[in-house]
Amino acid sequence: MKEYRVGIIGATGMVGQRFATLLENHPWFHVTALAASARSAGKSYKEAVGSRWAMKTPMPVAMAEMTVMDATADAETIAGMVDFVFCAVDMPKAEILALEEKYAKLECPVMSNNSAGRGVADIPMIIPEINPEHAEVIAAQKERLGTKRGFIAVKSNCSLQSYVPALHPLKEFGITRVLACTYQAISGAGKTFERWPEMVDNVIPYIGGEEEKSEKEPMKIWGKVENGKIVNATQPAITTQCLRVPVSDGHTAAVFVAFEKKPTKEEILAKWAAFAGQPQSLELPSAPKQFIHYFEEDNRPQAKLDRDLEGGMAVSVGRLREDSQYDYKFVCLSHNTLRGAAGGGVLMAELLAAKGYFD
Ligand code: NAP
Repeated sequence: MKEYRVGIIGATGMVGQRFATLLENHPWFHVTALAASARSAGKSYKEAVGSRWAMKTPMPVAMAEMTVMDATADAETIAGMVDFVFCAVDMPKAEILALEEKYAKLECPVMSNNSAGRGVADIPMIIPEINPEHAEVIAAQKERLGTKRGFIAVKSNCSLQSYVPALHPLKEFGITRVLACTYQAISGAGKTFERWPEMVDNVIPYIGGEEEKSEKEPMKIWGKVENGKIVNATQPAITTQCLRVPVSDGHTAAVFVAFEKKPTKEEILAKWAAFAGQPQSLELPSAPKQFIHYFEEDNRPQAKLDRDLEGGMAVSVGRLREDSQYDYKFVCLSHNTLRGAAGGGVLMAELLAAKGYFD
């Protein structure tokens, strides 16, 4: 496989740090540029991150002394140093989209973890096991942007990263209604307990914008490509409540689902066990061998025990049982900064690399 030089935009943040650790020994991708805001620019990566380093493993030695660049002011230089960038920044939405388009127009593809471009019909939002064919709209996007190789591809929100994969293989039973309550880790807000002490012994029943994303984004993921655009699905009806809970990493979801043609419990378990997609058939480096793991134990999945399954790239499911108002209910979990953010971004980039989108 060809090797690629990559940049991390937002390298100092929670997701950026995850990218740094995931890319440290990546077989195809080598980090040649780190960027963040003007506040960090000019400092070494170690200095710019300072006490914010939140990963369990030490900062990659090869990156610690790299000079952090200014994502906006140095964009042209960065675009010349890399084959594509990963982007995870905390900025106003319009500024993020402008920054991502700037890189795309500099002929530098952008693998984005931000929500800014998710609603744009010719920007694919890819969960590689579910909708790899959405990459087809990249050709139309390049035409709109007037680029040869520059484009934007986005990752979906972390909140839905457990229940959309769990529901996807059940779609042939005609999913009509879904109710999902998510219990989301504090790293999803870019925080640790040290930096957010109010979260110790607490639950906050509101995460700005999260419920809207959790209900809308599955419709794009399950949408169809038509004339260079993704046309959103209109089914199933999804309603959510998203709560912040005192967990460091790992978003849990309690899910209720109704079907047109109610499957048996055994049929659902068989669909989960058999669910594999292009990442598995292409043997992409970050792909979990088994995407969905079902736990028979009543007290699983647990964030602390199960979030790191298959390098944090698998989805854990448990407690499947019949429900008195919906057909079934179950609980699922995924690691929010791995599968739900940086890991999902790396897997998407591996898929696009394997399909030649960076050449
Ligand atoms: P974070 O820890 O607050 O980090 C924010 C990053 O953005 C830092 O690197 C910061 O650089 C950079 N930044 C801020 N203003 C900037 C500017 N004007 N120009 C360039 N860079 C700037 O946030 P995070 O949790 O990593 O989240 C980053 C993005 O990923 C957000 O869009 C978020 O919605 C998304 N996301 C996060 C998660 C998660 O689980 N955390 C999951 C999915 C998606 P400085 O250090 O220089 O300020």
